[in-house]
Formats: sequence, structure tokens, C-alpha cells
Amino acid sequence: MNSDQNVSEVKKVVAFDLDRTMFFCKDKFANPIWAKQMVAPLYLRDQGSVGDDVGSVCELNPVAWSLLQSLKDMEHVCCFVSSGRYFGISEQFQPSLGILKMFGLLHLFDPSLSVLEYKTFEKSQHFLKHPNHSFMLIDDNPTVRREAEQANNCVAVDISETHLSLRVIKWLEI
Ligand SMILES: [Mg+2]
Repeated sequence: MNSDQNVSEVKKVVAFDLDRTMFFCKDKFANPIWAKQMVAPLYLRDQGSVGDDVGSVCELNPVAWSLLQSLKDMEHVCCFVSSGRYFGISEQFQPSLGILKMFGLLHLFDPSLSVLEYKTFEKSQHFLKHPNHSFMLIDDNPTVRREAEQANNCVAVDISETHLSLRVIKWLEI
């Protein structure tokens, strides 16, 4: 195969949802909240959890974290696709991005394929914008997974699926 053929090949990308897939956030009473409800300043409590100014905590999902690490070790392209944007504030103050930064994960995601949008965002629209890529979306929400698969270049799987990493690796044909 020559280099021209390589360039035209469809590129496989593993896309991670953020809230309740990459991490779980809870308020100080342990009620589940969205990452966008975390209040700055954020701080790293330990390697796997970030705290905020009002006693809420965001915990990294070890399953998603180790999958992301192994994919990056194998030099695969990963991105995040989230509808957890806080309305009306700049990129710099978006809690979800701040959390990824705190965990030291933000740089692992391809910025040109990653997106943080508002609640009404349809993930299929994002995938359709990148027709030369094929995506596997990992997402906790069945409604979101169904919607995302409206894009013909996306397959969506549940973060809590048994043998998830095996499924991802098979899809990537490693
Ligand atoms: Mg989610």
C-alpha cells in the first residue's frame, strides 16, 4: 500500500462521553450532579478525584481511565464528545475541561475531534461533520447512544458493558 492510500483511509477514533462515563460528580450530600455544576476553584484531592469550592467531588471512572490510557499507549486517536457545556461562560472556565486538566487527561484527546456542547446537542451531528473518520462512542446513556448511531460512521457502546476493552480492541482490529 502506498502513502496516498494510507491518507485516504478511514481513521478509527474512540470517542468518550464525559459525565457518568469518564467521571462521576456528586455534591457534598453524595447526590449525583453534572460536571457543569462543579464550582471553581477546583483542586486535585488525590490522583482520582477533584474537589470544588462547595464540597462537591468528581471521581474518575477507573474503567474509562484505564481504557483511555491503553489506547493512548497504543497511539490511537481518542476524543471526547460531551453535552456538558455550561451556558454563557468561556472555554477557560468550563468545569468539564477544568476537571480533565486537573486529572492530566485533557492533552490525551485530539482537540480537532473533541467537542463540549450544550445539553440539546445531538452527538450524531458531530460525527457526521467528520465523514473521513469512523467513531466508536463510549457513553453511559442509552438514549444518547441510539441518537449517536443515527450517524452512519458511529457505533455506540455502554461504558458498563462487560469486556468493554475487548470490544474496543476488536473494533480497532488491533
Ligand atoms: Mg453521560
